[in-house]
Amino acid sequence: MVRISRWHHDHIWDPTHECMDPEQLRQLQLERLQATLNRVYKNVAFYKKRFREIGFVPEDDLIDLDDIKRLPFTSSEDVSNSYPYEMFAVPLREVVRVHSSSGTMVNPRVVGYTRQDLKTWSNLVARILTSAGVTADDVIQITFGYGMLTGGLGIHYGAELIGASVLPTSTGRTERQIKIMKDFRTTVLVSTPSYALVIADRMDELGVDPKTLSLKYVVCAGEPWTEEMRQEIQERLFALVTDNYGISEVMGPGVAGECLERAGMHVQEDHFLAEVIDPSSGEPVPPGELGELVLTTLTKEAFPVIRYRTGDLCRIIETPCACGRTFRRISRIEGRSDQVVVIKGVNIVPERIGDVLEKIKGERPPYQLVAIREGHEDHLEIRIAITEALFYDKMREQRALVDVMRQKVANFIGITPRIRLIENRSLRRDEKGNVILFIDERKLQ
Ligand code: ZN
Repeated sequence: MVRISRWHHDHIWDPTHECMDPEQLRQLQLERLQATLNRVYKNVAFYKKRFREIGFVPEDDLIDLDDIKRLPFTSSEDVSNSYPYEMFAVPLREVVRVHSSSGTMVNPRVVGYTRQDLKTWSNLVARILTSAGVTADDVIQITFGYGMLTGGLGIHYGAELIGASVLPTSTGRTERQIKIMKDFRTTVLVSTPSYALVIADRMDELGVDPKTLSLKYVVCAGEPWTEEMRQEIQERLFALVTDNYGISEVMGPGVAGECLERAGMHVQEDHFLAEVIDPSSGEPVPPGELGELVLTTLTKEAFPVIRYRTGDLCRIIETPCACGRTFRRISRIEGRSDQVVVIKGVNIVPERIGDVLEKIKGERPPYQLVAIREGHEDHLEIRIAITEALFYDKMREQRALVDVMRQKVANFIGITPRIRLIENRSLRRDEKGNVILFIDERKLQ
């Protein structure tokens, strides 16, 4: 608890919430949810209409936190359709900052912040950076974009609040990033996991020895990644790597983050209500199971969201964390819910099967998943291209390898697949020549 209590004397923000008694936390969440629902019912036509459709009056119908399950989800399309200001809950004159997310939709998703929202945001980012080891003594280099996206400015103000020395380098120009890291003696790098590896690659090419840097921590976010990538970043940059999670529609960075235990990201539950649902049925999944993260803001003024479907897949971790924080954690984001395939009632992200296969022989073979229906029963078949590493002269050895693959995948997803080794050119491909990761043959049979 040392890491938390060291901040008590400044009263910059209230870190005591992070160790709240769970019962008190639920009470606080209920009060804040009540206020939020009242506000959106009164001020946002979209929510008023939605609530009325199901006969939900926040003042009377929210008795318990579970009552939120009666409310419909809010989707990214809903936010996009309300472009630009339709879902704001305050008049524009009270909004002091506007951000928007990039996206595949016609209209970007626009979000706003009141002065109080910005204060809250900085506090929450400060908390997350503090739990990731950052202090006033650090020099922090932020390689997230500074612009309409929330990443750069979001981290920036939280880092300033802690008192760290901020280097707002923004994205790109890797060689310059490395020079600044060296000359300015950066101790904390904020980056997407893949960009951290781009920096490592470029340092190799330039002959820069990472041991000569002052780097202590790499704070990662912004994309789904794996434990293997974390290991690689740690080994190549000689720094401790933590994961954190943010999403523009909900706030930006600061929603959840790992402490130095690095065993899941604590959700800042005094400001956000987190649910994990089955993306196809919308029903909650049990703790530990993969599902889609749904978030409700509890304190946002300008742009509150109710049951926002993030599209991000993760698991809720309810076991206590050794750091002493009582906020529940979410696992790393394992993928996007639009990538999920359901076979025998199990949610599977085809990309993650590749991770399992990669671990077995140290190389990721070309592969594809096929869902097959025989009678009333569904099966998962994994077709794997025979590569140099997977080819054995002896049939016995090849069979043993297939057994290992079947076992490892079964342990990972909970159902036993059939494994078929086939020629690389026999894998089905799209018009661009890329292997199709998932083929659903169930509808054809
Ligand atoms: Zn912890």
